[in-house]
Amino acid sequence: MSVLIFIDQTEGHIKKASYEVLTYGAKLAEQMGTTAEALLLGTVNDDLAALGKYGVKKVHQVANETLNHVDAQLYAKVIAEAVAATGANVVVFSHNQTGKAVSARVAARLKAGIVAGASALPDTSNGFVVRKTVFSGKAFANVSINTAVKVISLNPNSYQTIAGDGTAEVVALNVAVDASKIKITHVDKVSGEVPLTEADIVVSGGRGLKGPENWGVLLDLAKELHAATACSRPVGDAHWRPHHEHVGQTGVQVAPNLYIALGISGAIQHLAGVNRSKVIVVINKDPEAPFFKAADYGIVGDLFEVVPKLTEEIHKMKT
Ligand code: FAD
Repeated sequence: MSVLIFIDQTEGHIKKASYEVLTYGAKLAEQMGTTAEALLLGTVNDDLAALGKYGVKKVHQVANETLNHVDAQLYAKVIAEAVAATGANVVVFSHNQTGKAVSARVAARLKAGIVAGASALPDTSNGFVVRKTVFSGKAFANVSINTAVKVISLNPNSYQTIAGDGTAEVVALNVAVDASKIKITHVDKVSGEVPLTEADIVVSGGRGLKGPENWGVLLDLAKELHAATACSRPVGDAHWRPHHEHVGQTGVQVAPNLYIALGISGAIQHLAGVNRSKVIVVINKDPEAPFFKAADYGIVGDLFEVVPKLTEEIHKMKT
């Protein structure tokens, strides 16, 4: 019996979201009186033993380089076999892109109940009840799972990562990987310097920027903050920015520590993709813009005046 935490990785490094699920899974194991173990597919440059700092006792690694890029079907097969091999009865993923693509497939293979988008630790006092967000984060539902194996995907930024002391034992896990089953060809990453879903800071622009020729003002701020760039849907639809930058209900869902919205009105469909950000800053010339209701900090003003000044001040602070 154990809690198995899936470690997501990209380009040789463990993704930030994985540290959060490690802390969450370790706390859940403690609550259930069992042990927390982690599972990594592929190889990384990071020190796996150091994951013990987040409370896991063991890290199982299927060190096959074929697994360095995500193929959801192959991952699901390997993870399901790893769950059987380790005897885990709870499997935890981040509800990020990989977790969304893989966790449901793993659950189907294991005939396990799944809660996708959990927002808190399960209540294990009487059964196994997990709180999750529904209706794009507007409401919560408490979902009970009663299958032998349980799968949870945790909403990014909903549990505080805590690192302490400790070293994990790293164990090679022998699971057959049939590379001929891979249907996805990895070409190259599509986004800019900072991947959107991994970024600590996201600077996002809407129709208030008036056209693609004005994006320099946003890019300068993003560069100064080492932030990823995003946009509202109409901006993507109009090809002012590439489609993969579109955030919201029908686009990418992000949960950075800081989301800065420039000239975005804050429609409910946009908020659905960004409302799990820790701090939201809105710059809009319309004091009635709905985004201000969701903002932690707001500046009412013309972005073409405000943003260059902000960028300049940040630059001065850094030099
Ligand atoms: P606008 O609503 O036109 O807002 C522009 C804002 O810029 C205004 O608030 C204005 O005051 C401000 N502004 C103008 N000039 C300046 C200036 N100089 N300085 C400062 N502020 C200025 N949208 C998404 O973003 N993501 C989605 O995933 C998404 N999914 C959708 C799904 C469905 C089914 C539907 C129906 C809609 C969806 N939308 C989505 C569209 C959404 O409803 C809004 O239309 C869209 O988010 C508005 O984009 P915007 O804020 O950039 O533009």
